[in-house]
Amino acid sequence: MQTTVPPEIAPRFLLPDASGHFGEFGGIFAPETLVTPLAELTEAYLDARANPDFQNEFSALLREYAGRPTLLYRADKLTRYLGGAKIYLKREDLLHTGAHKINNAIGQILLAKHMGKRRIIAETGAGQHGTATAAVCARFGLECVIYMGETDMERQSLNVYRMRLMGAEVRPVSTGQKTLKDAVNEAFRDWVANSRTTHYVIGTAYGAHPFPMMVRDFQQVISSESRAQILQAEGRLPDHVVACVGGGSNAIGAFFNYLDEPQVTLTGVEAGGRAIIPGEHAARFAGGRFGVLQGCATYILQDSEGQIEGTHSVSAGLDYAAVGPEHAYYWKRGRIHFSHANDGETLDAFKLLCREEGILPALESSHALAYAVKIAPKMSPDQILLVNLSGRGDKDVWHAARALGELLPT
Ligand SMILES: *Cc1c(COP(=O)(O)O)cnc(C)c1O
Repeated sequence: MQTTVPPEIAPRFLLPDASGHFGEFGGIFAPETLVTPLAELTEAYLDARANPDFQNEFSALLREYAGRPTLLYRADKLTRYLGGAKIYLKREDLLHTGAHKINNAIGQILLAKHMGKRRIIAETGAGQHGTATAAVCARFGLECVIYMGETDMERQSLNVYRMRLMGAEVRPVSTGQKTLKDAVNEAFRDWVANSRTTHYVIGTAYGAHPFPMMVRDFQQVISSESRAQILQAEGRLPDHVVACVGGGSNAIGAFFNYLDEPQVTLTGVEAGGRAIIPGEHAARFAGGRFGVLQGCATYILQDSEGQIEGTHSVSAGLDYAAVGPEHAYYWKRGRIHFSHANDGETLDAFKLLCREEGILPALESSHALAYAVKIAPKMSPDQILLVNLSGRGDKDVWHAARALGELLPT
């Protein structure tokens, strides 16, 4: 049932259509057993979206538990160093649990509670989404199971322990490459068996309808805030907004409320990895093709037989073979541009923000910064460049040190 959309969800963009399509992208590619749970979820979500009580409860939790609104920080020293556009950072890194993922975890778990579901499952790669989900489950007293590939569990043992401290059960996944894609498959298997009691919290703007729409709605608070903040600070909109793109949730959140402002350039930055050759990167718009993976139609890294290619990135959060369908839609129509930053440029940008501003960014967010480093000097000092700092880099210090060839004491 399509109901009216409250103003805070920006009624200008009613995509996707009723079948979950963003043009030729998106949709519902799911096993028969999930068709009913997905339809129930869509109906419950559309009701909640139109319900002021739900929206108020969501806003209160964002404010009181997650720490919103986040700062819009004018990075004067970085601006002087790069010598071009005036740079602002949207500080999603200051949120509880360290990244924008908490916005979506709160929204979906609140919805699950309204639907009477007492059990929450989620997949996680690097552990950020698992940590946000575990935290919100602890807050609501809900049972929480996190699926995580065994390889990722080894690489992210600290996050595994954080999730367990907050009461979540972390289930190792030993199939396939034992990473994110395999964890998603296991979470879906669980949901098929337990959908009556269980909600599956997908961590990005990806998957079968209604997930890409729902996650986008929960993340659009980023640009609803940044828009008001920049108008207050500068009396006008930014010239360019930049965000990193894994599945695409922080980027669509950071772009959403600028989509109908053609003078605002929007650029998503993908993981260029070691090089744009198969298996060495995760830049879907640089090396991908149209296809279907894990619930929806979109741009995917695949070989000529349709086999999913391996991916690589210095940041685990951008290391996925497919991109959210809404990004594919706006890319095809030229509204959102895409670029990529390679591992080396990303590590340089990571170090630069630490040194110039005393802010330690996530390696994912450092991809957006790397692109800003390239374009800011080509822009004029009266132009405004807004970079979405999706998360903080504390989780990445070890990995960054190793990648930079420095040895830390154990
Ligand atoms: C997970 C993550 C990302 C990538 O996910 P999106 O859905 O593309 O936003 C980016 N930055 C940080 C800090 C993350 O934790």
